[in-house]
Amino acid sequence: MKRLIQLMMEERRDIWLSVLFGTIAGLTSVALFGLSGFMISKSALQPPLYIITVMTALLKLFGAVKAGSRYAERYVSHRATFTILSRLRVSFYEKLEPQAVRIFGQYRSGDLLARIVGDVETLQNFFLRVFYPPIVLIIVFLSTVLFTMVYSVWIALLLLSGLLLTGLVIPSLIAMRQRAVKQDIRTQRAQVSTEVTELLYGFRDLKLHQKLDEKKASLFEKADLYMSGQEREGTASAASQSLNAAAALGISFVVLALGAYFVTTGELNGLFLAMLVMISLTVFDNAVPMAVFPAHLEDTKRASSRLFSVVEQEQAPTAAKTETIGQEKPFSIELDRVIFTYPGEARPALDGVSLSLPAGSKTAIVGASGSGKSTVLQLLLALYEADAGTIRLDEKAITGIEPESIWANTNVVLQANHFFYGTVRDNLQIAKEGVTAEEMEQVLRLVELPFGLDDSVLERAENLSGGEKQRLAIARTMLKRAPVWLLDEPSSALDVLTEERIFDQLLEMAADDTVVLVSHRFTGLERMDQIVVMDRGQVAEVGTFNELMAKQGYFYELKQIEQSVLAT
Ligand code: ADP
Ligand code: MG
Repeated sequence: MKRLIQLMMEERRDIWLSVLFGTIAGLTSVALFGLSGFMISKSALQPPLYIITVMTALLKLFGAVKAGSRYAERYVSHRATFTILSRLRVSFYEKLEPQAVRIFGQYRSGDLLARIVGDVETLQNFFLRVFYPPIVLIIVFLSTVLFTMVYSVWIALLLLSGLLLTGLVIPSLIAMRQRAVKQDIRTQRAQVSTEVTELLYGFRDLKLHQKLDEKKASLFEKADLYMSGQEREGTASAASQSLNAAAALGISFVVLALGAYFVTTGELNGLFLAMLVMISLTVFDNAVPMAVFPAHLEDTKRASSRLFSVVEQEQAPTAAKTETIGQEKPFSIELDRVIFTYPGEARPALDGVSLSLPAGSKTAIVGASGSGKSTVLQLLLALYEADAGTIRLDEKAITGIEPESIWANTNVVLQANHFFYGTVRDNLQIAKEGVTAEEMEQVLRLVELPFGLDDSVLERAENLSGGEKQRLAIARTMLKRAPVWLLDEPSSALDVLTEERIFDQLLEMAADDTVVLVSHRFTGLERMDQIVVMDRGQVAEVGTFNELMAKQGYFYELKQIEQSVLAT
């Protein structure tokens, strides 16, 4: 809530204006009805015509001011709300972006969507229904009570107790009752949203495994729960508003009865009775919506904590990331006893990894699936931070380097690469500013893709085969021409011969560059300066191809197995 209020305070001017116009509207509406009550009584006594004329003119004035200020209040408060919401979305996104990798691992996308859309929407009630209306209510009510006191202290006290009843006692009673029965609609909304995304993402697989109906049924079940929850909430809030309205009306009757009694005892001039009753009827207009105040407050609290809990888990980055690296020169990479565990996992993915890759060297990382090869690359790209040990790029600690400077100076092919809906051209152009059509056509030839630049790429590159996707990703890095290459099994879906030809091209292009190649095959590694063999998060062996073969250790064994598999 603190953060929300901070964001809101940036709209200070509109907040003041909303309170101002709201108060004017509230006071003129009380005045309007009070005066009309007074006028009815006064007219009965046949006053001079000019008095009636003046009162009619005043009535018209109040009516116009009331309408105008109510309009202004709505206009300003909604303007403020939409500005606050857009600030909220932007500030949420800005926090989300740098932590995206961790967050995507932790939340399901449907849940995230529900928070970003739904919870933000819930927060629109905060300013409109929670923050400023009580201020307006109190100002209008207290001024009215003061005014009434001139005529009858008892009726003033009655109005005051009415305020306490409708503004405080009834709303908190309702809130207490509701808290016990209220289902958490926000969680249900997130569940529905999660189910929908799962269904859509997994549609084909669900269909193939004939689980579509089951999944649909479970979606409908959750949707029904959500809808009935909403219905209950709607009914409850309507019921509490009606209850409050009834209480307000009851007070007005008591005012009438008490006023009539005072008139008979002579304590009150009968001329003012109608006015007081009309005032009482009007002043509660502002109090009736207070019935839903606690519900909105509770909503706001939950929505803001759900929203901000996503981005506020990790506090304060350790060091200021101000250094830059590379700038078109290949740089060195060093890992010193790096330990890293994925958030929420028990076993470390890297368990004391030390490596030294001089600038311009060519390194292959091999090892069984799950041995931590991809994790090394993720750490080098500063997508995650090591728990212990140090990583140095260009002899600078990675913790002090701007991540953008790392990304700008590396050509990266990850195991899963994203392509955008559009054309081959669109997908290649993101490699670098100002690539020409010739350059793009040239790299397509180098990776042996027979595509034209205007060929279309569907969502998630559904229309490309695994190997084509990999080659397109390689083509993208070839365009970028950064001085350091981080390649995670870039050609695992290619046949051996194509792989070798593309790899030749790549090494030629990267002749002076630092290259880290995670490889699933053991062929063609003779050309690398060093081979790192990983096993269960640790470095099992390091050496050149010949050294490792001569040593007849783990690498040699793996190589033998590969050969026997290839031979059969
Ligand atoms: P490799 O690339 O060598 O096949 P990885 O580096 O991808 O292996 O994974 C190393 C270990 O870390 C594996 O046990 C894997 O299950 C785990 N792991 C990988 N990615 C994640 C992740 N995002 N969250 C949790 N655990 C992960
Ligand atoms: Mg991997």
